[in-house]
Amino acid sequence: MKRSNADSILIKLLALVWITFGLNAKVHAQEKEKAKIGAEALPGINWSVDQLEQAVAPVRPGRVLLPQKWPHNARIAVVLSFDIDNESYPLSTGVTGPGPLSDAEYGATEGLPRIIAMLDRLNVPATFFTPAVSAILAPEMVPQILKSGKNEIALHGWVHESVDILNDAGQEQRLLAQAIAYLTKVSGKKPLGSRTGSWAFSPYTLSVDQKLGLTYDSSLMAMDVPYELMSNGKDTGIVELPVTWVNDDGIFFGPAGDLPSPKLVFQVFREEFDMAYRERSFVMLTFHPNAERRSRFLYLEQLIAYMKTKPDVWFATAAEVVDWIKSNPTVDTPFGRMLDEQ
Ligand SMILES: [Zn+2]
Repeated sequence: MKRSNADSILIKLLALVWITFGLNAKVHAQEKEKAKIGAEALPGINWSVDQLEQAVAPVRPGRVLLPQKWPHNARIAVVLSFDIDNESYPLSTGVTGPGPLSDAEYGATEGLPRIIAMLDRLNVPATFFTPAVSAILAPEMVPQILKSGKNEIALHGWVHESVDILNDAGQEQRLLAQAIAYLTKVSGKKPLGSRTGSWAFSPYTLSVDQKLGLTYDSSLMAMDVPYELMSNGKDTGIVELPVTWVNDDGIFFGPAGDLPSPKLVFQVFREEFDMAYRERSFVMLTFHPNAERRSRFLYLEQLIAYMKTKPDVWFATAAEVVDWIKSNPTVDTPFGRMLDEQ
């Protein structure tokens, strides 16, 4: 019985220790939680003007690069872009479950071939931002994209890595150089531009792009129209062909496949085009082959067919737009070409 008493005392002691440490941990967590509100959670409120300026300086919008004229005197340039995330996106974060991977693989098995056939049918080009790993895992995709001779292959990281999370200049450059080497080998042409995975930028992205000889980026959102990127007060010569979450199917169409209605989402894309058309401007639209399941694809095709009914629309790849911008005079403001019909 003595032994049992000793055991009982030991258990009580252990319980006390557990409660004490457990409670301490809980109080500590609550204190930490408290620290997330109040001034500590808002460090920017105490930054000097110098610090605030430094915070935005690494990547800033520079000159507007909207051309005075598009080719054939077109009213508007439209870039259809497809981000072939496929398995790269889950793999970059270590997801190996066959379920989520199968949903991602749809981009190669059905998504891309259906899109390519539709682009050929409507006779419009597109730019395919392709993580190298997506192309390695489905090597039939690159020849499919290049078959018509109209489409462009551009960079989308090695394995769709989020370079802001990576936050390592050397690793970022190594991965992008690897991606360039692979895509150059399989496509026969060095990619000219890059769109970062998840459209995330690190403080090093711009200089990595410069070191690797790229001419454009398409991950940022400071304007509706093309612009030059500046870094710490200096022009970089890198053209930004801006994206926006508003014109991206990826954030609306998750794997659940329920809401929102594809019809309403594509109505937004159509109205973005309508306004850009009115402004005699530029629009970049982004789609994901792994998200373009049948009910969405139906509206994608209708959207492109609708844009084609309008006169003077120049459908071009991102590289063609950059090439035109670099050899033609541009206007000073994003609205420089618009408003003859206000
Ligand atoms: Zn992506």
